[in-house]
Amino acid sequence: METVHIIGGGLSGLSCAVSLIKNKKKKINIYEASGIFGGRCRSYKEKKLNCILDNGNHLIINAYKNTFKYLNEINALDELISNKTTFYPFIEINKLKKWNVRPYSFIFPWWIFFKSCRPLNISFLEFIKSLKIIFAKKNQKVTDIIKKNELIYNRFWKPFTIAVLNTNPNEASARLLSKIILKILFFQNNPLKPFMAKNSLDKTFIKPAIKRIKESGGVLKTNSRLKKIEFQKNQAKKIIFNDKIINLKKNDALVLAVTPNIISKILPYLKTPKKSNCILNIHYKLNSKIKPIKMPNNSFFIGIIGGMIDWIFKKGNVISITISAANKLNNIDDKKISKIIWKEIEKIFDLGKNEIPNHKIIREKMATFVQSPREIYKKPEATTKYKNIFLAGDWIDTGLPATIEGAITSGYNVTNIINKLK
Ligand SMILES: Cc1cc2nc3c(=O)[nH]c(=O)nc-3n(C[C@H](O)[C@H](O)[C@H](O)COP(=O)(O)OP(=O)(O)OC[C@H]3O[C@@H](n4cnc5c(N)ncnc54)[C@H](O)[C@@H]3O)c2cc1C
Repeated sequence: METVHIIGGGLSGLSCAVSLIKNKKKKINIYEASGIFGGRCRSYKEKKLNCILDNGNHLIINAYKNTFKYLNEINALDELISNKTTFYPFIEINKLKKWNVRPYSFIFPWWIFFKSCRPLNISFLEFIKSLKIIFAKKNQKVTDIIKKNELIYNRFWKPFTIAVLNTNPNEASARLLSKIILKILFFQNNPLKPFMAKNSLDKTFIKPAIKRIKESGGVLKTNSRLKKIEFQKNQAKKIIFNDKIINLKKNDALVLAVTPNIISKILPYLKTPKKSNCILNIHYKLNSKIKPIKMPNNSFFIGIIGGMIDWIFKKGNVISITISAANKLNNIDDKKISKIIWKEIEKIFDLGKNEIPNHKIIREKMATFVQSPREIYKKPEATTKYKNIFLAGDWIDTGLPATIEGAITSGYNVTNIINKLK
């Protein structure tokens, strides 16, 4: 039987394996360098807080078609939660103004016609005018089209760009953003409905996939780091790990589902995105001395405008803060950040003054690559100059941004290519 060796146990590697195991002619082996599966979408037991933490809050939306297909295939759809209706609550931190964006749409984004569905004090005309972003040119950034001093920039385009591209609007590709708008806003049913993992990322996205792969005869290995590939003509012949060497047989295939910085060492001929952006998460474990926190309309998350925080998520007695495009915080120490953020939380929820509760800061310095006009055109295709090597990952050219949906789509694309090989 032909073997497909998948390097990398993040979502792109796992989704590739989950879809390939249906091909009974292939044997699947996955090798993960670290001690756990999940990559940038993982959970772990945090001893200091005595609870399971996710490396970062992950929001997914109804428009993530392949993500829902994957969750269905691994039988984990009921591991998601959402609000009862589709709304995004926002709070502007300065004057504590509050509003909900209700982007419910069916076929056409008719929500923009209704004042109660749009961000506070944004008129229909302003909204329509800002949709000129749809005609963005290849090299334009978001702020080349939407001016920073416009209210609609601060209340809609800035949070939307950072949430989707993990890149500041003054760097982010307007063309990529416009492609996403066109893809998700029209001819879909409720595309922006938000979801998150009910218990943990691991229980939703990772463990059920591992179970499915194992049940179908796949083999998964942790602590297996690919070091080098040896080639013969236009084929990979040998894969060399920290602990073993594998000789590839004639029709074996190799899927590299790793990040661009690793690929540039293994396949140096490939052009890859080089710049990356951090996402910083702080998880505070609330205690009985702190006034109970009530989320607006019992939402599982809130967007924050005008502060350091971008999003707040609440899961039981843990309040988790997300700050995206956070390279600017790389040189600020943890103590200072947790203090500033806790102050913002006290203000938002009117908690009065408290001692900062136990918390954990997780800085994912390479959360995604910077999705600027310059970097996005370095995204490679899934095929390489070697006929038995294929690429998966959220940074491969799928037409999607670096997200869960991008990663899973890339894994599925590789499966389609391998299944068509003669
Ligand atoms: C904090 C944070 C928040 C995020 N929030 C969201 C969100 O809200 N919504 C959303 O859609 N997306 C979000 N994302 C993005 C999403 O997590 C990623 O797009 C996705 O997980 C990438 O999966 P991947 O398989 O492409 O890469 P990775 O998850 O990076 O997987 C690559 C794997 O390869 C392994 N590896 C590396 N080198 C080797 C080697 N030599 N040998 C063997 N294995 C190797 C790594 O250990 C890793 O497990 C977020 C990311 C972060 C970090």
